[in-house]
Amino acid sequence: MRIVLIGPPASGKGTQAKWISREYDIPRISTGDMLRRHVADQTELGRLAQEDMNQGRLVSDDVVIEMMDQRLKEDDCIDGYLLDGYPRTLRQARSLDEAAGPDIVIYLDVGGEEIVRRMSGRRVCKSCEAVYHIINDPPMAEGICDKCGSTLTIRDDDKEETVRKRIEVFKEETSPLISFYSDKGVLVMVDASGSIEDTSDNVKRALAKLGKP
Ligand code: AMP
Repeated sequence: MRIVLIGPPASGKGTQAKWISREYDIPRISTGDMLRRHVADQTELGRLAQEDMNQGRLVSDDVVIEMMDQRLKEDDCIDGYLLDGYPRTLRQARSLDEAAGPDIVIYLDVGGEEIVRRMSGRRVCKSCEAVYHIINDPPMAEGICDKCGSTLTIRDDDKEETVRKRIEVFKEETSPLISFYSDKGVLVMVDASGSIEDTSDNVKRALAKLGKP
């Protein structure tokens, strides 16, 4: 099955993506993680992406579309995919349709103030990419990753002014995808304003309703 997750920053895409990918046995592909890896490895692509990411802007369509075209050709995508953070523009969505468009697009719906609250508490592990929240999902020892023991940090693009920019970018560039996918009859809106568990239950119900339990 081919699933796309769309949602504003901090709507819980990454968290939901992980269990959906396990449950359906399809690879979770996060463009954000792929780009961050390029930045960390200081590749040519990473150098192109870094400034945009730090400023809360989208990386250019040309760069991201090319990166995803390559990734979706890999063998593990034959039976489907779970895309976390792609597409984010109409151009990316049209490009994805040319390859293999999604069977279902889950929109994680959450309001602006809740987004800022969530992002200011987010902590990430730069070594293993685990994500925590100081209130909703804290690590066992403060500031330390449960999984690998590294020190947790605030992502550069989680700083408040960047967060506000990312919300603005989402409204302008990504929200047009709601009507794009709704017109195709593949969109489901899910309330993502509550806890992680409530949101997971809402996603499960939405998938079950579509006969995709
Ligand atoms: P994320 O981890 O999904 O929130 O992505 C972090 C940052 O990576 C975004 O703020 C963008 O700068 C960049 N990015 C991730 N996915 C895309 C995409 N599909 N198109 C353009 N830029 C992206």
